[in-house]
Amino acid sequence: MDKRIPELYGSLVFNDRIMREKLPKDVYKALRKTIDNNLPLELDVANSVAVAMKEWAVDNGATHYTHWFQPMTGFTAEKHDSFITPVGSGQVIMDFSGKELIKGEPDASSFPSGGLRATFEARGYTAWDPTSPAFIKDGTLYIPTAFCSYSGEALDKKTPLLRSMETLSREAVKVLHLLGHPEVSNVSTTIGPEQEYFLVDRKLYEQRKDLIFTGRTLLGAMAPKGQEMEDHYFGALRPRVAAFMHDLDEELWKLGIPAKTKHNEVAPAQHELAPVFDTANVAVDHNQLTMEMMKKVADKHGLACLLHEKPFEGINGSGKHNNWSILTDTGVNLLNPGKTPSENTQFLVFLLAVIKAVDEYGDLMRVSVASAGNDHRLGGNEAPPAIVSIFLGDELTAVLEAIENDSYFDKQKKTPMEIGAAVIPRFFKDSTDRNRTSPFAFTGNKFEFRMLGSSLSVSGPNIVLNTAVAEALRQFYEELKDVPSDQMDGAVHQLLKRAIIKHKRIIFNGNGYTEEWVQEAARRGLDNLVSTPDALPRFISPKSIELFTSHHIFTKDEIMSRYLILLEGYSKTLHVEAKTLQAMIRHEFLPALLEQMDKVAVSVRNKKAVFAHLDCGAEEKLLTRLSQAYQKLDQEEEWMEADLATAEKLEDALESARFYHDAVLKRMDTVRTVADAVEADLPDGALPYPNYEKLLFSV
Ligand code: ADP
Ligand code: MG
Repeated sequence: MDKRIPELYGSLVFNDRIMREKLPKDVYKALRKTIDNNLPLELDVANSVAVAMKEWAVDNGATHYTHWFQPMTGFTAEKHDSFITPVGSGQVIMDFSGKELIKGEPDASSFPSGGLRATFEARGYTAWDPTSPAFIKDGTLYIPTAFCSYSGEALDKKTPLLRSMETLSREAVKVLHLLGHPEVSNVSTTIGPEQEYFLVDRKLYEQRKDLIFTGRTLLGAMAPKGQEMEDHYFGALRPRVAAFMHDLDEELWKLGIPAKTKHNEVAPAQHELAPVFDTANVAVDHNQLTMEMMKKVADKHGLACLLHEKPFEGINGSGKHNNWSILTDTGVNLLNPGKTPSENTQFLVFLLAVIKAVDEYGDLMRVSVASAGNDHRLGGNEAPPAIVSIFLGDELTAVLEAIENDSYFDKQKKTPMEIGAAVIPRFFKDSTDRNRTSPFAFTGNKFEFRMLGSSLSVSGPNIVLNTAVAEALRQFYEELKDVPSDQMDGAVHQLLKRAIIKHKRIIFNGNGYTEEWVQEAARRGLDNLVSTPDALPRFISPKSIELFTSHHIFTKDEIMSRYLILLEGYSKTLHVEAKTLQAMIRHEFLPALLEQMDKVAVSVRNKKAVFAHLDCGAEEKLLTRLSQAYQKLDQEEEWMEADLATAEKLEDALESARFYHDAVLKRMDTVRTVADAVEADLPDGALPYPNYEKLLFSV
C-alpha cells in the first residue's frame, strides 16, 4: 500500500515531471519561464504544449477537455468539448490546438456579472492559467482558467487573486531589495486551508427539504446529547467515516492534492481535512476540488457531506482556516522569525506590514468572509467574533513593546540595541497556537485567518490579505527608499516604532469570545460588523475603491458588480431558506401537529367514554401546548408570506438584503423557536423527516 502512494500521487495531473518528460526541451523551458515569471505564452509554445497535453490525457483515458473556471457563484464551472475532429469518410482524430488550450469562449450570460456585462454581449473568455496544473477527472482534461468579459473585466475569483499575488510580489521584492536582498526576484503567497465538514447518512439527508435546498437544518430541537461530553474531537474514526476518508485521500492524491491531516472535529458528525500548503492560486483550485470531491466520495459511501457553515443549531458549525504566509523564490518564509539579527529585521518589517494591513483593512477582511451562512457562526462562541483583531502571543507582543519603548537594552553595555539585534525569542509553535478564539493568529511562521466559512472559496480572503499587505509594504518602501544604506537600520527602527504605536490597537491576545472583548474593541475603535448587510457596504467605501483600483486588482466597475452579486446572493439565500421553511411548516410540521392533536383529542374522548371520572389533565395540557404552537406557527407563516411579498418589491439591493436580515431572518428564528419547543411533545416518528438525534448519530 505505502509503495503505491508515491505512484498514485499526482497520477492524474499534468505536472512538472510529466511536462519535463513529454515536452521538447526548448518548449519545456519556455513554458517554465512563463510559469515562473508570469510572462505571456507564445502561440507556438502553446501549440506544442497542447499536443503533449492531449496525448498524455488520451493515454490516461480522457476523451474531452474543459476550461475549468471559478465564476462568482462560488462554485466551479465547466463545459466539456471532446477532442474528436472529423477528418472525412466517417473518421475522426483526437485533436487539440494551442488556441483551444489558451482561450475559450463560453457563453457568459447565465453567470452572475452584477450588471458588468450587457446582455447583448454574452461572450465571456476563459484564459489558461499555466501556473495551476491541468488534471484529469472523470475522463475529461481539466484546464484551470481565468474568466473575463468581452471587454476584459474579471468575472471570476481567479483573475483578481492572480493580480493580488503579482502585486504583493512586486511590493515585497522592492522592500527586500532595500533591506539588502537583491537576490530575490519574486515572492509568492502560500496557503494551507484547513477544511471542516459534516457527514450524515445520505438516506436521512434526502428526507429533509432544508438540507437539500439550503444545506442546513431550518428546524430541529437538539438531541439529548450534543458536544458537551467533548468526546468527538480527535476521537476514534468510526468505520464508515474511516472508509470515506481513506477513499477521499486517494482521490485527492491522484489529483496531486496533498491531503495530509484528517480527524474528528468538536461537534458530533463533524470532521476536518488539512492539506500541505501550496502557492495561493494552486491552493485555491485545490480547495475547490477538495470540496467537490468530499461531496462526490460521500455519495459513493451512502453519505452526504455538508459544507454549510451552520448545518445544525446548538452545536459548532464549520469554518475554514486560511493559513497564510509569504515565500521568496530563494526559499525564505518571510514570516519565519529566523535566528540571526538581520533575519529578525526582515521578519519584523513583514510582520508589521501584516499588522498595519489588518488594522487598516480589517473591514475588508470581514467583507471577504461575509455570507448568510457564516453570519450564523461568527460571534456564536464557536468561531471568532465578527471583530477583526490579531493574536501575536505574549513573546512577540513583548518584542514589539520593547521596540516601542526603546527598552531593548544590551545588559552589558547598557545601551539600547539596534533593531537588528532585538533578538526575537525562539518561540515554539505550541506556545503561540493555544489561542483558538482569535480571528487572525500568528502561529509561529504564518498567520492563520480563522473567520472563513466552510463553503467559501478561499480566493476572496486572500485577495484582500495580499492587496492590503502589498499596500502596507508600498508605504514602507516609500518611507525607506531614499534612506542611505548606512542609516537604514535606524530608519527601519523608527518606521517599526511608528507602525507599532499606530497599529497596536489591533493586537489582542485575550479571549475573543467574551462580551468584555466586544466592549474593549469598541473602545479601541475596531469595527464589529455583525451581519453581511452590515459588512458589505465597506467594499464600496472610498478607501476600498482606492486600495483595489490603485493596485489594479479590481476596477471600480468590478467592485460595484461584485458588491451587487454579494448582496443579491445574500438575499437569494435567505429567500430560498424562507421558502423552504414555509414548505416544511405548511406541508410537514403543521400536518404532524394536527395529527397529534387529533390523537390526543381522541384519546381524551375515549378515556372519558370508558371512565368519565378519569383525570385527563396531562392530556389537556399537552393538547393546549400543541394547539398553541399550531396557532402561532400558522400565524407566523402567514406573516412570513407577507414579508416575502414585501421583500420582492424592494428594488435597492442593500435595502433588500437588510430587510431579509431584519425581518425575514428574524421571523424564521421565531418560527424555529416555536417549532423546536413543541417538538418535545411529538412522539418519535411523528415528523416525516429525521430529527437531530437520528441525523447527528447516523454514521
Ligand atoms: P494546526 O493549525 O492544526 O496546528 P499545522 O500547523 O500543521 O496545523 O498547519 C495547518 C496548515 O497550515 C497546514 O495546511 C499547513 O500546510 C499550513 N502551513 C504550514 N506552513 C505554512 C506556510 N508557511 N504558509 C501557509 N500555510 C502553511
Ligand atoms: Mg490550524
